[in-house]
Amino acid sequence: MSKGDEPYRDALDAAVRHTHEWLGSQPTRHVGPLATAGELAAVFGGPMPDQGMPAAELINFLAASAEPGLMAMPSGRFFGWVIGGTLPAALAADWLVSAWDQNSFLRAATPATAAIEEAAGRWFLDLLGLPGESDVGFVTGATMANFTGLAAARWRILADAGWDVDADGLAGAPAIRCLVGEQRHDSVDLALRYLGLGRPIVVASDEQGRISPAELDCALDRAMMGSDGSSRVPLLVCLQAGNLHSGAFDPFQAAIAVAKAHGAWVHVDGAFGLWAAAVPELSALTTGLNGADSWATDAHKTLNVPYDCGVVAVRDTEALRAAMSINPSYMIRDAGAAADPFQLVPELSRRARGVPVWAALKSLGREGVAAQVRLLMERAAALAGRLLELDGLEVLNEVAYTQVTVAFGDDETTRAVTARIIEDGMVWMSGSRWQGRDVLRISVSNWTTDDGDVEAAVGAVRTALEAVRG
Ligand SMILES: *Cc1c(COP(=O)(O)O)cnc(C)c1O
Repeated sequence: MSKGDEPYRDALDAAVRHTHEWLGSQPTRHVGPLATAGELAAVFGGPMPDQGMPAAELINFLAASAEPGLMAMPSGRFFGWVIGGTLPAALAADWLVSAWDQNSFLRAATPATAAIEEAAGRWFLDLLGLPGESDVGFVTGATMANFTGLAAARWRILADAGWDVDADGLAGAPAIRCLVGEQRHDSVDLALRYLGLGRPIVVASDEQGRISPAELDCALDRAMMGSDGSSRVPLLVCLQAGNLHSGAFDPFQAAIAVAKAHGAWVHVDGAFGLWAAAVPELSALTTGLNGADSWATDAHKTLNVPYDCGVVAVRDTEALRAAMSINPSYMIRDAGAAADPFQLVPELSRRARGVPVWAALKSLGREGVAAQVRLLMERAAALAGRLLELDGLEVLNEVAYTQVTVAFGDDETTRAVTARIIEDGMVWMSGSRWQGRDVLRISVSNWTTDDGDVEAAVGAVRTALEAVRG
């Protein structure tokens, strides 16, 4: 006899109650955690219990015990890294994904989640102006989206050079030259490492972190030197939409033209910046973007779906499916049907991560996504403007997107102010290093950040600066 929902009811009701308490506390709570992982180890750990605990009681214990160690990442006053909040529709849809418990790897097995993810993928391409023939895969984050796009690239450029990487591996393969901008995100290097491609060739960037197309041209010429022209040199260029510190975008039109003239595959890491392509008046930042071959982004950053969700799009569907697919006997597939989810991502068994993306896109609509990106940018610009009124504060970047990077004279002062802001807890911002200096980096990535939160942020920086100066 089926047990139905009865055994779940108390635990789920408790979880709903704690969710409302948590979300309700966001506007006023201390943003940073008040307990360390070390301190909480004893609360959650100790010896493995011999006896179990009823689910609802456990949920109450879990929520109460975790509370002091939670970072208020969904708060409008959280400005750390590039971590976005969560849209109501996306959070609720994510709950359903857990409740449905669909292992979404085969279209025929889980048709609803497959159809939802396919719709989300089509909307994603349309919204961002990417080639409609591309495949879209939903992965855990931009690191895996980079990995997936670059795996497809590796497959294709080796195939073009007459090498079957699936059969023969990398030993003895034609050497792939990977070119990246000086200020690419480290996860690109990590993805290249996972793929056995080693350390990339670094191309100079300007002071905001934009790759130089002229330098890229020279570097590609050098990478091709020594080739006798009898086979193609496998070349891979990684560009970036949205620099972590400045928010700057690589000059896609020029850089992609140069890369394509050399026959290179072009991959774009647009973890939080790709969404600029949804905003008509930002076309100067993203023109030419759709001339690349693969694109990686996060849905958990600018789009504000819950952790974790990244998106990869690849124009060369043959390369992606070849790089990601397996054909075991237990997977009966419709011949000639659309791709199954497992053919587009590294995972086999998988959560339907695209469902919250579908919910976010449907709840916002085309205009709502553009409005959300605009709002983040406007708050970032307002913050930078207000901060500039403070004595001794420098804004180091051109604030053209969602990032504001500041310094307070010398490194020691900047570090002290950053530590003080975090300790005060009114807002949370991360320290970093950029252009050879310690900096305070402010990322506006949450749809709930409003004028009051901007004021709170300015006030927190002012208070911390005054305290450090004594
Ligand atoms: C955050 C980020 C990544 C890594 O994304 P994850 O979701 O953390 O895997 C890669 N590139 C850029 C530019 C980023 O901002």
